[in-house]
Amino acid sequence: MAPLDLTGDELRAALATATDYVADFVDRLPNAPVLDDHGLTELLDDPALRREPPEYGRPLDELLRLVDRAAAKGINSASPGALAYTPGGGLVSAAIADLVANAINRYTGQAAPAPALVAMELDVLSWLRDLFSFPASTAGVLTTGGSMATLSAVITARAAMLPANFLNGTLYVTSQTHHATAKAAKLAGFPDQAVRMVPVDSELRMDPFALQEAIQRDREAGMVPFFVTASAGTTNTGTIDPLPALADVASVNGLWLHVDAAYGGFFHLTSRGRQRMDGIERADSLALDPHKSMFLPFGTGCLLVREGSSLASAHYLADLRGASLPDFSDYGPELTREFRGLRMWLPLHLHGVGAFRAALDEKLDLAEYVYKSLSSMPSLSVQQVPDLSVIVFKCRTAVETKALLDRVNASGRVALSSTRIHGELVARMCVLSFRTGKARVDEALELIREQVS
Ligand SMILES: *Cc1c(COP(=O)(O)O)cnc(C)c1O
Repeated sequence: MAPLDLTGDELRAALATATDYVADFVDRLPNAPVLDDHGLTELLDDPALRREPPEYGRPLDELLRLVDRAAAKGINSASPGALAYTPGGGLVSAAIADLVANAINRYTGQAAPAPALVAMELDVLSWLRDLFSFPASTAGVLTTGGSMATLSAVITARAAMLPANFLNGTLYVTSQTHHATAKAAKLAGFPDQAVRMVPVDSELRMDPFALQEAIQRDREAGMVPFFVTASAGTTNTGTIDPLPALADVASVNGLWLHVDAAYGGFFHLTSRGRQRMDGIERADSLALDPHKSMFLPFGTGCLLVREGSSLASAHYLADLRGASLPDFSDYGPELTREFRGLRMWLPLHLHGVGAFRAALDEKLDLAEYVYKSLSSMPSLSVQQVPDLSVIVFKCRTAVETKALLDRVNASGRVALSSTRIHGELVARMCVLSFRTGKARVDEALELIREQVS
């Protein structure tokens, strides 16, 4: 029976097996299919994969082979050809950080048990605060994703802005806003009708005048408008809402401005991204997803709150002690958590911020290139110039668009997704992975060209 505690030598051997598997996985990525459902039914019924844990353990290499078979099915989001959804790729250096963080297994839910590690995580948050020009009063927390960050943002705003009976509170989104806000509102106890849809303009941006009107209408009806989500890069089209104008409307009307930068946030590292996100520094709260535009493996989001004390008072039961290091458990629903900060800290220090900036600049270049190339294909229409790295396009009919997507995705070389804009089916390409370069984008364009000509 394998002991639960491995000796140093046993661990070296096990890690060598795991290292071989991971390194091999990465080496195979350029040629691995991006989409594969072949033989899925058989695999799901395979007793080798779906068996109960045995009384006596089995060899690691055998188990990793099972993982590999299972990982081969579905969408390979680590592939350079992953252009569907929001494919960050997953930096393997963050996996190294996870290995280390889990092996040292220190408690970072509070500062006292691991003060210096909590300080390192705090440094990552301070870097983010400065990156987005937030004030010294800011508090931040690393979450498991953008949805959890949004939940804490809504709860914080609710506690800061509304009376104990908050059921008249209303929140403002658009048809393009990620449903994380509506879900957060529901989880926070708001009735479904509390979430108001503000019209968008022809470029799918929230219309600030329409927001002003909606707020006025709701006030006159006895409601309490308190929260607006502006997107710094929508998931659908990567479009950035007019942040300065929305910040003006929010401030004139005393609303909490939440900026959802879960997809687009880290483009702020580039000069184009920074210009286009002008006004983001006026947010009351900001949601980021390092597991998207910072390329981290899934499982890391972030919330920054301008008035940090409101984040803590919404989540904690007693007064804060005002210590120099935060207890992260005061800033969200979680108590015990992994040392989440290391998966940001290590890649940032190992590769340097410049490596991220360069990769994100490359994604913007590629998106412009895709936009130009698709625009020149006669039978396609492209939605609009991309603000960031999502390009949305369609054929003459929805049937043709669907057929194009099916055939391109059947290639196994690239995966595109679809979405609906004003109810209409459109194809969507999101260039976001650090692994996606010009060669793979050219393959995608060639596949599309073959289908439309
Ligand atoms: C992905 C996304 C979310 C939700 O974040 P998760 O990390 O998936 O929970 C929210 N907003 C936007 C704009 C997103 O792209």
